[in-house]
Amino acid sequence: ALYRAKDGGRGGCKLFDAIMDVEIRERANVETDLRHAIATGAIVPHFQPLVDLRSGRIVGFEALARWSHPIHGFIPPARFIPIAEDSGLIGDLGMAILRQGCRHASRWSSDALLSVNISPIQLADRNLAGKILAIADQEGLPARRLEVELTENALVSDVEGARAILSQLKAAGVSISLDDFGAGYSSLRHLSSMPFDRIKIDRDFVQGLGGCGDPLKLIRAIVGLCTSLGLACTGEGAETSEHVSMLRAAGCSVVQGWYFGEALPPDRAAKLAAEGRVPLTRLHGAAEPVFTGGAAPATAMPAPQSLLASGFPARS
Ligand code: C2E
Ligand code: CA
Ligand code: CA
Repeated sequence: ALYRAKDGGRGGCKLFDAIMDVEIRERANVETDLRHAIATGAIVPHFQPLVDLRSGRIVGFEALARWSHPIHGFIPPARFIPIAEDSGLIGDLGMAILRQGCRHASRWSSDALLSVNISPIQLADRNLAGKILAIADQEGLPARRLEVELTENALVSDVEGARAILSQLKAAGVSISLDDFGAGYSSLRHLSSMPFDRIKIDRDFVQGLGGCGDPLKLIRAIVGLCTSLGLACTGEGAETSEHVSMLRAAGCSVVQGWYFGEALPPDRAAKLAAEGRVPLTRLHGAAEPVFTGGAAPATAMPAPQSLLASGFPARS
């Protein structure tokens, strides 16, 4: 009840009730199952392609954690990542995805980048850079093929600590990407003072959602900012040929989204990496997406209603 009251802002009041009780029990069950799933390797990375619009070349893949629960089926990261963060499991989960991701990527017959998401919580570990580099090395992935993605939330509590970790990674050859740009503070100070190589434009901008205004104008402005600061730029959440055309018109050269493919299981990602590019017809507009993720994406494995509908207590 306290956390719910806090989530509602200052001066609120909440009474503990039966629904909260059910949610807390459900969350505790997921936490137990999550701990077991991480320990047994049941959470695996799937890989979503990043496409260079000028050439059609696949320049990288983002590793996205996938959990197929033995009873509840597909549980989306938006459900289990917050639970992993709150329960202290995110460090192990992050390293498990990194290790598996590096192992797969090191076997691709391509030099595509592997992007891995880092939670803000992981940055509290002062040895994080050393651990990431050691795992990449053990799995045979050169640091120059690894990219870490983090959101601005990661810079809120200890910006100097974050800078030290990111600088260490960058010095070793790892690229640093600012995820979901536009969704948070979008601080110009962060953009210019942290060792970023790339920003990823939040999908709400690309899709013109949430009162974002004219997407073309905004994205053109963001791309201009990136160019001035010497940063590369990726447009996220491109679902249609219109989104792709708009990103191209705005000068954004790298695009990620369902139009080019959902996150693919490792064997299909390896095949796509070997092909190395998307067909030119696809680049310049076709009706239906070419690549689909098969068994794992949300469309193929919907989350159970009980988990989706009730929602776990929001994090403060
Ligand atoms: P994110 O890092 O922003 O990842 C992109 C999300 O957008 C993914 O959702 C992806 O499936 C989805 N997406 C890609 N293309 C499209 C599109 O065209 N349209 C729409 N509507 N969505 C698209 P996913 O896999 O459900 O992951 C959600 C979030 O969970 C990620 O957002 C990331 O913040 C977190 N996450 C996933 N895997 C990991 C992980 O291994 N570690 C950490 N710390 N976080 C992770
Ligand atoms: Ca990401
Ligand atoms: Ca993102």
